[in-house]
Amino acid sequence: MPFSEPAVIRSRRAVLPDGERPADVLIRDGRIERVAAHGSLTAGHGELVDLGDTALLPGLVDTHVHVNEPGRTEWEGFATATRAAAAGGVTTIIDMPLNSVPPTTTPAGLEVKRKTAEGQAWVDLGFWGGAVPGNVPDLEPLHRAGVFGFKSFLAPSGVDEFPHVEAADLEAALAEQARIGALAIIHAEDPAVLDAAPQQPGVHYRDFLASRPAGAETAAVARLLDAARRTGARVHILHVSSAAVLPLLRRARADGVQVTAETCPHYLTLAAEQVPDGDTAFKCCPPIRDEANRDALWEALANGEFTAVVSDHSPSTPDLKLLPEFGGSGDFAAAWGGIASLQLGLPAVWTEARRRGHALADVVRWMSAGPAELVGLTGTKGAIAAGCDADLVAFDPDGEFAVHAGELHHRNPVTPYAGRTLSGAVRTTWLRGRAVDTGAEPFGRQLVRPVNYRPAEGS
Ligand SMILES: [Zn+2]
Repeated sequence: MPFSEPAVIRSRRAVLPDGERPADVLIRDGRIERVAAHGSLTAGHGELVDLGDTALLPGLVDTHVHVNEPGRTEWEGFATATRAAAAGGVTTIIDMPLNSVPPTTTPAGLEVKRKTAEGQAWVDLGFWGGAVPGNVPDLEPLHRAGVFGFKSFLAPSGVDEFPHVEAADLEAALAEQARIGALAIIHAEDPAVLDAAPQQPGVHYRDFLASRPAGAETAAVARLLDAARRTGARVHILHVSSAAVLPLLRRARADGVQVTAETCPHYLTLAAEQVPDGDTAFKCCPPIRDEANRDALWEALANGEFTAVVSDHSPSTPDLKLLPEFGGSGDFAAAWGGIASLQLGLPAVWTEARRRGHALADVVRWMSAGPAELVGLTGTKGAIAAGCDADLVAFDPDGEFAVHAGELHHRNPVTPYAGRTLSGAVRTTWLRGRAVDTGAEPFGRQLVRPVNYRPAEGS
């Protein structure tokens, strides 16, 4: 059961929609009933949790997680991913449609996912669908069944069962999504630019970086924006790694195209110059680029050009990462491309954000309110406000810890943050008013897209 309700959580650092201040949060039936002045709700109520100077945040909403179950559960699964999420202060995840088998490209595929996830989730969980060549007829039924939108790849995805879309497929998928009012989320790298780039396998990160140039992102985004303009589809660019994309987005928005974008903790906190030879834990696509690009991403984030900062948690087994410490070759070209960070996104981003002069309220906007808005969950998730689910996190902004990959809840002990010291410790995570105890039974729910939700215009 939740608290012997109602209950009050008190903090001198509650991060509310209008900023950080001392507050009491009254919780009833799993929801936030009201937010009141600090110290005002002592008498006449049930349990009171006083966090003192420990901050109280709304639970994070991570709209970009690859759970991989069923089919590749050895890479990650619902139980392990959602336990890691809860431990990292994430109370809602939206699962990507690929790397699981079957992929979520048909209503039957969605049913398989839902049945598999049943009873395994420690946090609330929703699903993206996939738009692949030939499945236009499946998009409307999937959308009716509650997926939050549809992912497409403009370049090969890395798994054969989720092919990328060519120009005609993209046009057809976007036209249908415009018709049904769906949000199209896009992996934007251009295959022709990738094919023309120098391919030099081996342990040197600079060779891998040269094989996935920034021009692949800008070419793909330009092509996507043209298609969005023609079809009227509402599009969202996933995991923007190159800051060179941003001027294109600004111009398109000025032109009336409905487009938003996200970036990820690894692009904001890591840089190409720091990647050790053979350390394929750092491999992802698009790749982590240089320091100057990272600074430009932070500038864009500060200017409100990104709607969300989300993990793109996409792990695999250590052998597929070809990590030298597990006996692998350390070859960046051949290693699985994907970064495991679900449990570490909040402290990673907070550590760097604070260094750059940002406040906790900024991190909450990027990692909780922003992604909630992207998927139409504003009013339910992503804020400490009356009426929202009591998804809350006790967060010690000064709590430092060293990352040991084997101690994380992720299924596999691989992360590029291994060995780093991060600031920001999650002390307790509450899901709908109930403290998540990963030693007890999971009580996460499956979410569907709100029925009347139409994706908001890009801002
Ligand atoms: Zn991804």
